[in-house]
Amino acid sequence: MTFKDLNLIEPLQRAVTKQGYTKPTPIQLKSIPSLLTGKDLIGIAQTGTGKTAAFVLPILQRMTEKYPRVVRTLVLAPTRELAAQIGESFAAYGQFLKFKHTVIFGGVSYGQQINALAKGVDIIVATPGRLLDHLNQGKVNLKDIEFFVLDEADRMLDMGFIRDIQKIIARLPQKRQSLFFSATMSPEVNELAKRLLRNPVHVEAAPQATTVERVKQCVFFVDQGTKQSLLLELLKQKHLTCVLIFTRTKHKANRVEKFLNENGVRADAIHGNKSQGARQKALYDFKSGRTKVLVATDIAARGIDIDNISHVINFELPNEPESYVHRIGRTARAGAEGTAYSFCAADERNFLHNIERLIRQKIEVLPHLYHSKQAENAVGAVARPPPKHFGNNRGNQSRKFFSKFMHKGNFRRR
Ligand code: AMP
Repeated sequence: MTFKDLNLIEPLQRAVTKQGYTKPTPIQLKSIPSLLTGKDLIGIAQTGTGKTAAFVLPILQRMTEKYPRVVRTLVLAPTRELAAQIGESFAAYGQFLKFKHTVIFGGVSYGQQINALAKGVDIIVATPGRLLDHLNQGKVNLKDIEFFVLDEADRMLDMGFIRDIQKIIARLPQKRQSLFFSATMSPEVNELAKRLLRNPVHVEAAPQATTVERVKQCVFFVDQGTKQSLLLELLKQKHLTCVLIFTRTKHKANRVEKFLNENGVRADAIHGNKSQGARQKALYDFKSGRTKVLVATDIAARGIDIDNISHVINFELPNEPESYVHRIGRTARAGAEGTAYSFCAADERNFLHNIERLIRQKIEVLPHLYHSKQAENAVGAVARPPPKHFGNNRGNQSRKFFSKFMHKGNFRRR
């Protein structure tokens, strides 16, 4: 299935191709056709599933049916970061169309937002509080809204936005297409959806919650310096038959691969600096069991679709908690059992905390030879990676190296 098969118009196809997307994600496949026919929709999906494009693309397409410059689309998001991100998606996917959008959130001055609104926009992406301020001051009018999206509804409710949302909804015209996205479904979320939507289509992106539930998850507190020894110990166990190891950087992926091969464990690494051919060979060898271990970065792992991964090992925890869910979802596929081991050093303690908050569970701590009390108990500044200073020694060294490299004419622009 391609974006063309979804009957997206040419300017949108061109835009997604420019983004480098080759095929729609499952939530896009499930949502776009219904949204193009004008149906309301309730989507259970987390960030990272491609849900933004799943609503931005069909909305843009439906908007092209006419071109009056009035506010026709409203997207509400809980945080300014998410609102900005959605705004960027409208810009990226709509770059070959003529619509204008603006992003409205609190904590910044009103002036620029008022100017943007006064010039006329087709699309508003907003956090509820600030939008309500503009509405109350008569700076914005929602009477022409045709498309309304409530994103991350569960977080909106958690953050206490329900009253603001209700006030905004009361100003929307009755005749409109409404879309509702939430990562989780509680009775309150359900109640809000029911009030908002008419005969909605239900779509669910890879039911990640159930995947998370099926994966046995454990954490090992360990110092950075002993992670490799711990890894080797674990890999000696027979039941670790097909192991996907995650690192945060390409450099670390290479180091882990080298270390394992030097210590008698056949391993390959895949990441963005490897050629397509090398990646395919590594995947083939891993799938066929020739190599037991594959080391990957988050981005490289996106396309990996292998059913028999017995263990995922987070050699380094991801800084984005959603990535953890993606990573561990690589195991326990197709109904199989799966285990995820996470190595947590002191400076990753906060990452672990954020992950546990996202998945709403405590991950079991396993005792082991290299257990680090310091890592387990880290709080405050030591629980985070050290800030990157350009003025420090390492920065100077790498700058020196870089300039030497460029001097020799070895530096090629990509
Ligand atoms: P979202 O779930 O909307 O936050 O999207 C997660 C990430 O997936 C974003 O970085 C998008 O750029 C990317 N993305 C969205 N759709 C696709 C696609 N069809 N193929 C590859 N990446 C995509």
